[in-house]
Amino acid sequence: MSHCLETKVFDPSRLLLEETLFHTANGYIGVRASFEEGYEEGQPSVRGSYVNAFYDTHEIRHPEKLHGFPEVGETIAAVTDAQGIDLYADGERMVLRPGNVEDFSRRVDLDAGIATRKFIWRTSAGGRLAISIRRLCSLAKPELYAVSYRVETLDSARRLRLVSSLEGDVANYHDEGDPRVSGSSFKPLVVLATDARVPPPGGGRRRGELFVESRTKGTGFRLAVLGLVESETEGAWEARATPTRAELALEAPLRRGEALALTRKTVYADSIRHADAANAARSLAEGLRSSGFEELAAEQTERLGRFWAGSEVAVSGDPATDEGLRYGLFQLRQSAPRDGRSNIPAKGLSGEGYEGHYFWDTEIYMAPFFVYTNPAAARDLLVYRHSILDGARIHARDMGQRKGAAYPWRTIAGRECSAYYPSGSAQYHINADIAYAYWSYYEATLDLSFLAEAGAEVLFETARTWLEIGHFDGQEFRIESVTGPDEYSCLVDNNFYTNAMARFNLEKAVEARSILLEKSPGALYDIAARIGLSGAEVEDWGRAARRMYLPYDAGRDISPQDDGFLRKAVWNLAEEGEADRPLLLHYHHLAIIRRQVCKQADVVLAHFLLPGIVAQSTARNSYLYYERVTTHDSSLSYAVFSAMAARLGDAEKAYRYFRETVRLDLDDAHGNAKDGIHAANMGGSWLALVFGFGGFRPLGDAIAVDPVIPSAWKGYSFRVRYRGRSIAVRVTRGPDGTARADVELTEGEAIEVELAGRRALVEPVRNGR
Ligand code: BGC
Repeated sequence: MSHCLETKVFDPSRLLLEETLFHTANGYIGVRASFEEGYEEGQPSVRGSYVNAFYDTHEIRHPEKLHGFPEVGETIAAVTDAQGIDLYADGERMVLRPGNVEDFSRRVDLDAGIATRKFIWRTSAGGRLAISIRRLCSLAKPELYAVSYRVETLDSARRLRLVSSLEGDVANYHDEGDPRVSGSSFKPLVVLATDARVPPPGGGRRRGELFVESRTKGTGFRLAVLGLVESETEGAWEARATPTRAELALEAPLRRGEALALTRKTVYADSIRHADAANAARSLAEGLRSSGFEELAAEQTERLGRFWAGSEVAVSGDPATDEGLRYGLFQLRQSAPRDGRSNIPAKGLSGEGYEGHYFWDTEIYMAPFFVYTNPAAARDLLVYRHSILDGARIHARDMGQRKGAAYPWRTIAGRECSAYYPSGSAQYHINADIAYAYWSYYEATLDLSFLAEAGAEVLFETARTWLEIGHFDGQEFRIESVTGPDEYSCLVDNNFYTNAMARFNLEKAVEARSILLEKSPGALYDIAARIGLSGAEVEDWGRAARRMYLPYDAGRDISPQDDGFLRKAVWNLAEEGEADRPLLLHYHHLAIIRRQVCKQADVVLAHFLLPGIVAQSTARNSYLYYERVTTHDSSLSYAVFSAMAARLGDAEKAYRYFRETVRLDLDDAHGNAKDGIHAANMGGSWLALVFGFGGFRPLGDAIAVDPVIPSAWKGYSFRVRYRGRSIAVRVTRGPDGTARADVELTEGEAIEVELAGRRALVEPVRNGR
């Protein structure tokens, strides 16, 4: 049975949302699921296509600009639109509206990686034509967006015309009322050249070409888009190029029951990745000449087959949850670039929310999925972070540091793009988050060469920042004036999360140095020489880690979020309803930050990421405390509350939070999925299933599995990779209602597994068992 997301209703009020939900992407390009032919006049749409990390700059205006504030921002560019295919039947142009559509369906097949739209269009004279469209962004050939378009006349002979276009006159979407979407208009592309060519005369499959080359105004990047339009139907071809658009029309008379089919293969090539974008597009297109859509589709299915084999998940007895989970993982696959030059934007490549920026979302919420299912993909994401280390160094200097690197809170190419430092640059924890991801990758793979090439340098440079911004105060090391993950508390002293993660960062920097000293001293010497690292500095890191102050409230036995948090007045969420959520769109920032109210998991996240950092009672009490003051206005919150509830043994509560997270976009729970998917939340759902319900944990040479199961599920399963092994975990409910896990090792050497507290050696499964 193949897994799909499907709708059978043509509902104009949902089209904007469905542009996100049914979008196609492959980590390099993303195409929103607008209709090829466009919509009726007045229908809202964000008809965007994006190339990951292809951005333009703009000035950041600060009415009161103080020293070191960022002056230039980066925004992902809406790029040349290759979606356009207009259909005319006897001169009438097809535009769908309620009343002229029958048998409508659209779906995205999660196993095949193809989005399909099928329907019957009724012309104004009552004629009927069956249309079937398939699209894919190739996972095998990242520059390729391919479409198969087929139209069949169901009743009588007709003259059909299909006009394929490449539109270069495109602009980004903006929404003045929502800070999460760009607030000002932005039209970064200037078209440099267009061309349209009819196929040379001849029989059989004929192929025309469309071409648009553009340049970004600020960064001067080039983007060449070349489309091959092919059809076997005999007909008249016509080409037209305007200064910003290229079009190719195919017109053919069809008898009743006949079909007109065409395939469009569009390649995108940019000058960030290629020396000459136009040449690159030509040679990429050349390599695609012989591939038909079916072949591309088969290749896509094969790729996804491999993906699912490595990351299978299932929840039985709860189809809605199962669907949400699979959909989320599919989106993570679609969103993850593999080129080491880009990362996963907060909205994947499905929309313009957050301007195509990369945040800590990747390292804390999404990277774990890749680290434990497809480490090579995780490595590519980490390679990107290493590639922007210089940007992080510059940012550190801008922030007054003499040494080290301070990763920008939000960026594309390495600049700090957050204009509002209290909830931007002050989130220094992103340094530790990145360090955490590097370390998790190392632990799960023991990839020493990557530690030597990139990991250690990142760990060292990020560690340096803590010594720069924190200080020894008596016996303690303290870090003042930072913002933790909870953006409803800003510029606080000793944020628990930040201090705890900084400690981890410092410890692992020290450990990485010891590992390299022993196993790869030459590499260590090179890095130390390059960044001017001394043994004394490393000793300081160790000292700061040992003395790191972690706030603790003995009376309540909880971890205070920061030094001042518990003294603030509590925002009584139980009394003030849901009407004014998210608070950030209804209250002045100051009115929020002076109260005890959290946008998202903060302390609870630290307790989750660093198991054992506090006593179990402290973790439990803290959970209950923060539960009462957390709005979950950020989509990064529910998953953590779910995972932590599971770890604390409350499967039913974990499930309630899980339901809020696992279908967040499918149910448009935050009302803004039109701006793009909530990618971090999707990774968070996986974390909640595997590390929460499943109780999975890496333990050096061993792993732990300590599951719980909510009453809504019959069972669930997942698969992880760890140190060269592939491990399948199946959890069922025992007769007494408790969870039982079955761990199977299908690849790699025997491993010790701590199952619900008991260690046992798990041997590999023999073939034919
Ligand atoms: C959250 C951040 C997150 C960002 C992008 C904000 O609403 O508070 O933690 O990084 O969204 O997803």
